[in-house]
Amino acid sequence: MEKAIEILKKNNYKITKQRTDLIDFLRKFTVQYVSINDIADYMRSLYPGMSNNTIYRNLKEFADIGLVEYQEKDKTLVKYQCDFSHRHHHHFVCKNCGKVTELKACPIEFFADQLPGYTIEGHAIEVYGLCADCTKKLENK
Ligand SMILES: [Zn+2]
Ligand SMILES: [Zn+2]
Ligand SMILES: [Zn+2]
Repeated sequence: MEKAIEILKKNNYKITKQRTDLIDFLRKFTVQYVSINDIADYMRSLYPGMSNNTIYRNLKEFADIGLVEYQEKDKTLVKYQCDFSHRHHHHFVCKNCGKVTELKACPIEFFADQLPGYTIEGHAIEVYGLCADCTKKLENK
């Protein structure tokens, strides 16, 4: 939580109860994604009048400053930042249990070498399959 507050302050965001409540909820999702619908349901249980727009805007702001990460393919899913000291990273997502594992190395330089003279504007890379636990479980069936 301290880290999140520090980042909000550094980016000139006011520390409101609404923001800290949202962060508190998001913090439970460091190794898996949560749907924006679930976030909205939770926030409205605390703030009944809170609109979807406000929730989307808050999440977008949080993503811009690196507090949360959107799923690459499905932008209705977000998770709490898994690595504040290494914001640019990719994920392995387990299709069975949903566990998200951080991948530290980014392969974009490797692709850039194959695109001489091109302008690369961005990339979205997510690796998926079964995590080690799920692989073991399914083998033992
Ligand atoms: Zn991450
Ligand atoms: Zn798994
Ligand atoms: Zn990358």
